[in-house]
Amino acid sequence: MPKFELLEPADTREALSLLSELGERARLLAGGTDLMVNLRRGRIRPEYVVRILSKEGLQGFSTGSTGLRIGAMATIREVAVHPAIKERFPALARAALSMATPQVRNRATIGGNLCNASPAADTAPPLLVHDAEVDISGAAGSRTMPLRDFFQGPGAAALQAGEILTAIRVPDPGTGVGAAFIKLGVRKAQEIAIVSVAVLLRRGAAGQVDEARIALGAVAPTPLRVPAAEDELRSRPFSLELAARAAGLAASAVEPIDDVRATAEYRRAMAGVLVERALVDAWEKAAENCEG
Ligand SMILES: Cc1cc2nc3c(=O)[nH]c(=O)nc-3n(C[C@H](O)[C@H](O)[C@H](O)COP(=O)(O)OP(=O)(O)OC[C@H]3O[C@@H](n4cnc5c(N)ncnc54)[C@H](O)[C@@H]3O)c2cc1C
Repeated sequence: MPKFELLEPADTREALSLLSELGERARLLAGGTDLMVNLRRGRIRPEYVVRILSKEGLQGFSTGSTGLRIGAMATIREVAVHPAIKERFPALARAALSMATPQVRNRATIGGNLCNASPAADTAPPLLVHDAEVDISGAAGSRTMPLRDFFQGPGAAALQAGEILTAIRVPDPGTGVGAAFIKLGVRKAQEIAIVSVAVLLRRGAAGQVDEARIALGAVAPTPLRVPAAEDELRSRPFSLELAARAAGLAASAVEPIDDVRATAEYRRAMAGVLVERALVDAWEKAAENCEG
């Protein structure tokens, strides 16, 4: 393990000021389940690791008329079991539950999952189909940006040196919406995705697709939405043929690579299969969630 100095600021303000002063020489520690692996493997060599002792403002969940706010330091387990997430955002709860092991889920945070910016981050696809936004604070002030613009490449998030992701905002999905998440791995547990898919559909009164959002993980340099497949679905009556057509468009939009888990060819084929399944699943759920 490379040597570093551990700094433990008392609160977020002190952490921001330390991180701003130290810039690229420091790294923030959340749950440490990615950071410690990267330190141990020598992939990063910060002089300082900053651990926030008091997580005020960075933890917890709050629900309002506009949606849900999740503090960046909420653990993956907390996300998986939270009643409002299970009820209103079940695809996110399912993605959280599919991650790692109980031990890792108890330590790992949702903010860490996003800031690590892995193309396979499990919470990214469901948050992308819910049009989530992220709150970011730095010494100079705070800003909010769509999660869609947050991922810039493998391991690269839209954070300036010294900035902290403080919260994730997820708009309320409204009625007639169904969402699904499917993850393909070699094993059922403790497995990074070969492909992951999240889908959100809104069902119109006449049985047409009013809104369609599809996101995939582990098939491109970043988790991504597939607009061509979404456009194919919108304003059309849902059918298995339509789902298959949209899934074909999603499969052509991905840019997978060969790695130890799977070939690019297998990933592309499975992206199509999983999108088709998730569309059918989400449509059935949307029907259950229609008013009346
Ligand atoms: C055995 C094992 C299995 C795993 N399985 C999965 C899996 O199935 N699916 C999956 O997606 N991931 C998996 N992971 C990866 C990891 O657990 C997750 O990405 C986790 O959510 C990271 O959160 P953390 O709090 O531990 O982040 P940390 O390791 O503390 O931080 C990760 C990175 O993000 C930065 N960071 C953290 N929080 C913030 C913040 N609020 N603001 C700014 N920067 C921040 C850190 O500086 C660091 O660079 C696994 C890891 C292990 C060790």
